Amino acid sequence: MSVILVGAGPGDPGLLTVKGRQALLEAEVVVHDRLVSPAILALIPPGAEVIDAGKAAARHKIPQEQIDQILLDKARTGKRVVRLKGGDPYVFGRGGEEAALLARHGVDFQVVPGVTSAIAAAAYAGIPVTHRDCCGSFHVIAGHRRAGGPPAIDYEALVRAGGTLVFLMGVAAMPAIVSGLLAAGMDAATPAAVVERGTTPRQRRCLAPLGELMERAAAMAIASPAVILVGEVCSLGTELDWFDRLPLRGRQILVARPRGRALGAELEALGADVWSYPCVELLPIDPCPAMERALAHLTDYAWLAFTSAAGVERCWACLEGLGLDARALSPVKLAAIGPGTARALATHGLTADCLPPVYDARHLGQHLPAEGRVLLLRAAEGSPALPAALEERGIPYDDIAVYQTNCALPPDPALRAALAAGELHGAAFTSASTVRGFVSAAGADADFTGLTGLCIGEQTAAEAAKHGIPVRVAREATIPSLVELAVQTFGDVADKTW
Ligand code: SAH
Repeated sequence: MSVILVGAGPGDPGLLTVKGRQALLEAEVVVHDRLVSPAILALIPPGAEVIDAGKAAARHKIPQEQIDQILLDKARTGKRVVRLKGGDPYVFGRGGEEAALLARHGVDFQVVPGVTSAIAAAAYAGIPVTHRDCCGSFHVIAGHRRAGGPPAIDYEALVRAGGTLVFLMGVAAMPAIVSGLLAAGMDAATPAAVVERGTTPRQRRCLAPLGELMERAAAMAIASPAVILVGEVCSLGTELDWFDRLPLRGRQILVARPRGRALGAELEALGADVWSYPCVELLPIDPCPAMERALAHLTDYAWLAFTSAAGVERCWACLEGLGLDARALSPVKLAAIGPGTARALATHGLTADCLPPVYDARHLGQHLPAEGRVLLLRAAEGSPALPAALEERGIPYDDIAVYQTNCALPPDPALRAALAAGELHGAAFTSASTVRGFVSAAGADADFTGLTGLCIGEQTAAEAAKHGIPVRVAREATIPSLVELAVQTFGDVADKTW
């Protein structure tokens, strides 16, 4: 019978701790708050029960007593229960109350601290909460009182302490906080800041002297969740700003890739607001007697060629099903369409013997050495350019479909609305099928003109152009090249939105 109280961090999913992540991966029940990012919730195993304790039903949040009861009931089932809270569980998260409740009822618990917004939102806004030159302490203050109404804060004591002040839950009470500090003798010229949705792609910050903070924040319509910072350190906000300077900051980019998190993660690290939108479903053809037969007769072939990591995985699963391992592949040489596919081979201890100079189907067909029959294990909808190139060179081959790609996605009103509102700046396409899936979800009549299609290669770009999507093509067909293209496309624009 135990519960782990886990801090989810302030918003950026990368700020979840290693220990917190492990707890989530092993959870059987998760009770979470409102401010937890979807990318973190995505770590919860599919079979686990997920209870959204921050969910507002008819404008009323689940009352704390009910959350307490849920925690006790779930703990008593003996399942691994995670209580997931925004930021740090013990910083104004009622974590202390919940832990005390568990202790009172004899339920074992552990605490995994989290990165608190009090420090992290400031850091992402270019503000270190302490600095040797100007302050020796920082103070984290609840900006609202339990029963509502203005907070009971000893402003004189805060002003006397002279450290950085960080107010959480303070947006509604901002007038009271500002006037309280001024009345207690704080200089109206004291640097201050408000950071809204800190550490997320939607972060906005407002830097202003304390005396002007209200007006400036109101002009920007700053809303909760936000932290208010007051103190000399806020004057460093311009010089130490790093987040707003990221090249893709403020850009919404859809990643249409069916698998692999690398592309989205790299774009996010460069500041993009990534919309992960798998546009293609990969459906294994299983069982696949044609592949089983071919793998049992590999001496008939000189080369085995792969055009995707998915093809490699299907081949591997089939070998395993036949009770074989990598040694079964010794009669053939291995070809990969590009570095991603070569990496998939490498995870099984296999090195690709041939990669074409340009990473696409046509070039693979043109550069495979003419040494005998070629076995192709790829998608049913694979590009005809590969067999065509082999035929042209008189190279015999067997083209075996080992999975299908379904790109007939149902129309998605949210995607259409984002396109119509011009909110989507880019879409990254890693194959022609991802373009087809995207167009199917958006509707063929959607307005794509405000969007730039970032395409991995010529064939992908041709498909996008066919649907009226303005395109740019990566220098070479690799994920790093595609990321570079995104930076070239969006990196220098002046019309950023925050
Ligand atoms: N335990 C949380 C705080 C919970 S109280 C923590 O350690 O961060 C909720 C308040 O936290 C909000 O009203 C807001 O002031 C602050 N907050 C939470 N997430 C934030 C974010 N991403 N950006 C700015 N403030 C945030």
